[in-house]
Amino acid sequence: MRQSAIDAWVRYAGELNPAGQYAAGRRAHAVLAESREIIGELLGADPVEVVFTGSGTESDNIALRGLYRTSLALGKRRVVASPAEHSAVVETVKNLAATAGAEVSWLPVTEDGVAAGLEALREPAAVATCMMANNETGAVQPFEQAATLAREAGTPFHIDAVQAVGKIPVDFHKLDATTLAASAHKFGGPRGTGILLARRSPVPQPTVQGGGQERGLRSGTVDVASAAATAAALTEAVAEMDRERERVDKLTARLVTGVLERVPGARLTVSGPVLPGHAHFLFPGADGALMIMLLDSVGIAASTGSACASGVHRMSHVLEAMGISRREGMGALRLTLGRTTTEEDVDAVVHQIEGVVEKATVAGAL
Ligand code: PLP
Repeated sequence: MRQSAIDAWVRYAGELNPAGQYAAGRRAHAVLAESREIIGELLGADPVEVVFTGSGTESDNIALRGLYRTSLALGKRRVVASPAEHSAVVETVKNLAATAGAEVSWLPVTEDGVAAGLEALREPAAVATCMMANNETGAVQPFEQAATLAREAGTPFHIDAVQAVGKIPVDFHKLDATTLAASAHKFGGPRGTGILLARRSPVPQPTVQGGGQERGLRSGTVDVASAAATAAALTEAVAEMDRERERVDKLTARLVTGVLERVPGARLTVSGPVLPGHAHFLFPGADGALMIMLLDSVGIAASTGSACASGVHRMSHVLEAMGISRREGMGALRLTLGRTTTEEDVDAVVHQIEGVVEKATVAGAL
C-alpha cells in the first residue's frame, strides 16, 4: 500500500456513515464524493459512474451477473467470453450457464495468449466481456476492438481492467464499454476495495439487495476511508505512470535477457505486447511449485500459473486455453516488477534462477 494511501486511510478511518443525515454523516459523504470525483476524473468517467465495491472479483460479478439479468429480461441468453479470463470472470460465466440458462460462446485464444475469433461479437448477445490484460501472462487483449464490435451489435460489454488500471492509461468514456472493473490493491491502494465503472444505461440489475447505496448496485454502508485511500493511490499511480513505465521496462528487459541467457531451453510465454513489469517464462520440464519454494527460500516472491487445489498442482487454465503443453505449462513462472523493484532485485533473481531451475527440473523428471 502506498504511503499516500495509508495516510488517507488513517485520516478518514474515523468517519461515520456517509449516508447519515447528521453533520458528521454529511462530512463523510463529502469525503466519499470527492474520492469518487478524483477516481472518475483519472479514469475518464463521470463521478456518478464510479461505484465502490469490495474487490475486483465483486466488480466483475456485479457487472456480468447484472448485465446478464438485464438482457435476460429482453430474451437474450448468449454470453461471449474467453476461457483465459481471470477466474472472477470465467467462474461467473460458467455459473451463469449452470444456474441461469446462459449459452456461452467461448472465444478461441491464440498461442500468444490473446482472445481471437471476435466475429462472435457481431451477433447480439446478452453480455460480452474481454479483459484489458491477462493477469498471468500480461498479454494485452483486443479489448477496444471487442468493445466496439459489441456496441455495434447492441451487446452490453464488460472490461476487466484489474491488472491494467494504474499501469496503462484507461479512459472509460473513450471505450465502447458498459462497465469496467478495477481493484485498488493493484495500484497501491487498500486490499478489499474494488471499483466498478458503470454507465447510466444499460444498467446492470442489482445482484445484492439492501439499502440501495452505490446506485443500488452495491448495497451496504460504504467504506469512506478505503475510498479516500483508493483515490490517493490512483492519483499517485497515474501521476508517475510514464516515468515508472520507462524505469520498469528497462528493469524487465534486464531480467528477461538475464534469465534467458542463463537458463537453456527457457522461453518467454508470449511474444506480443504485455503489461509493463510483466515477465512470464516457461521452463519446460521444471516443477513450477518447487521453483516458487526455492525462490521463496532466498527471499524472492514469485508465482506460477498453476493453481494448487487440494494439494494437487494443476496447470493454469490460461496456459491450457493457449494450447501450451503440460510439460511446458507446469514449469511456468510469473515474475512481476513494480514501483518498489530495484536493479539489485533483478540481479538477485538472475543470479539465482539457473540453480533454481536446475533443481526444479531434476524434481520435475522424478
Ligand atoms: N481480474 C483480474 C485480471 C485480476 O488479476 C484479479 C486479481 O488478481 C481479479 C480480477 C480479482 O481482483 P480482486 O483480487 O480484487 O478480487
